[in-house]
Amino acid sequence: MLTVEEAQQKVLSYVDVLEPEEKPLLECSGQVLAEDVYSTITIPPMDNSAMDGYAVQAQNTCGATPSTPKILRLISEVAAGYISEQEVSPETTIRIMTGAPVPKGADAVVQFEDTDEEERRAAGKTLVEIGILREVPPGLSIRRAGEDIAKGDLALSKGTVLRPQEIGALASLGRTTASVIRRPLVAILSTGDELVNVGEPLPPGKIYNSNTFSLAAQVRRYGGIPKILGIARDDMQSLTEAIDQGHDADLFITSAGVSVGRYDFVKDVLAKHGEIAFWSVRMKPGKPLAFGLLTIRGKRVPHLGVPGNPVSAMVSFEQFARPAILKMLGKKKLAKPTIIAISESRAVNSDERRFFTRAMVEKRGEKYFARLTGPQGSGILTSMVKGNGLMIIPEDTKSIEQGDEVQVQMLDWEEEQ
Ligand code: AMP
Ligand code: MG
Repeated sequence: MLTVEEAQQKVLSYVDVLEPEEKPLLECSGQVLAEDVYSTITIPPMDNSAMDGYAVQAQNTCGATPSTPKILRLISEVAAGYISEQEVSPETTIRIMTGAPVPKGADAVVQFEDTDEEERRAAGKTLVEIGILREVPPGLSIRRAGEDIAKGDLALSKGTVLRPQEIGALASLGRTTASVIRRPLVAILSTGDELVNVGEPLPPGKIYNSNTFSLAAQVRRYGGIPKILGIARDDMQSLTEAIDQGHDADLFITSAGVSVGRYDFVKDVLAKHGEIAFWSVRMKPGKPLAFGLLTIRGKRVPHLGVPGNPVSAMVSFEQFARPAILKMLGKKKLAKPTIIAISESRAVNSDERRFFTRAMVEKRGEKYFARLTGPQGSGILTSMVKGNGLMIIPEDTKSIEQGDEVQVQMLDWEEEQ
C-alpha cells in the first residue's frame, strides 16, 4: 500500500504546468503570471506632493517658527493632474494638493498644519501671502519620480501569484491584460445507481448526489474550472458514455465505484480505457483510490477515482487533486497549510493508516487547540461541515490522548498559498 506522500508524488508526476493565456487583468486574479513584466513607464511619472500644503524652496524656511514665521507670497495653486505654469522663487509659494506635480523651483512641501493658512482664513483675510511656521528639509513631503517603479524595471516576475496588489501594480503600468497560466478544466463524474440529481424527488432507496457539488466546489476553490458530467449508472455502457464527455479535461475525477464491490465498475472501465497507477493508499478515509490515465478520443487524461463516501471523496481530493490542480496552475506551494495544535479529544487509530480526523481548531492565547467534531464515519458529511481542519493521526500512532500535540491540516486557510 502506498503512503500518502508516495501517492501524491505519483499523481504529481502525471500532471504538468499548463500553457499560458492572455486575459483581462481582473480575470487573472489568483493565477500565476506567465511573463516577466518590465515597465515601459516611470511611476510616479514626476516628483509630486505627498501632502496638501505649500511648495517652497526649503532653504528659505530657515529659522521659521510659529513666533517668527517666514512670509511667502502666494502666486498660484496646483491640483493633482495639472502642471503648474508658475515657478517657485525664494519669496514665493504655490499652494499644492496631494499628487500634484511639484512646480519648478520648489524642493519641499510644507503641509497646511505647519502654516498660518487656517489663522488667516479665520481672520477673513484673502490669501495673498502665507506664513511658514517651521523649517523644512529639502525633499520633505515630495514623492520622487520613479520611487515606485522606474522605466525598464522588472516590475513583476514570471511565476508570481497575482493577488489584488499585483493586479493593481499591472494596472499602474497601464496594462489591460496579463499572460497567466490557464486554469485546468476538471471533469467530475459521480457514479452509482443510488444517486439522484438534486431538484428531483427522492425515491425510496436513493440518495442525492452530493459529491459532484462538494468536489466541484473544491475544484473552484483551488482555481480549477469544474466540468460537471452528472451521474453515470453502475454499468459499463453508462460509464463509458459519460467518460467520453470529459475528453477536453485536464484532470478527470470520478466518485465511487473504486472499491471491491460487485458494482464497482470504474476500475473495470479504467482497465479497458486507460492505465491504472495504483489502487490503495495508506490513509483513512480514502483507502480505495484509483489513479491513472484515461484514454478519451485518443487523448490521455489523468484520472483520479475518489471513493464514494462523501468525507472520503473530499479528503482524498484535498490530498491528491488539490496539489495536482495547483501544480497545473503553476503554483509552487503545493502542501496544505498545517499547524501544531493541542488535542482536546481522544482519538483512536485502529488500522495503521494515516487517519484524517475532522476537527475544530481554535486559537487561545498563543496556542492552537483541536477537538474532534463528533462521530468520524466517512459517510458523515456534517463532520466536515463542523470542522475547520483535519487532525492527523500518524500511521504508527495507536491513539492521540487529550493534551497531546498533533498536526492539523487547515481546511480554511487557503489565503496562505
Ligand atoms: P462506493 O464507493 O460506490 O462503494 O460508495 C460508497 C458510499 O458513498 C455509498 O454509501 C454511496 O451511496 C455513497 N456515495 C457514492 N456516490 C455518492 C455521491 N455522488 N454523493 C453522495 N454519496 C455518494
Ligand atoms: Mg457504488
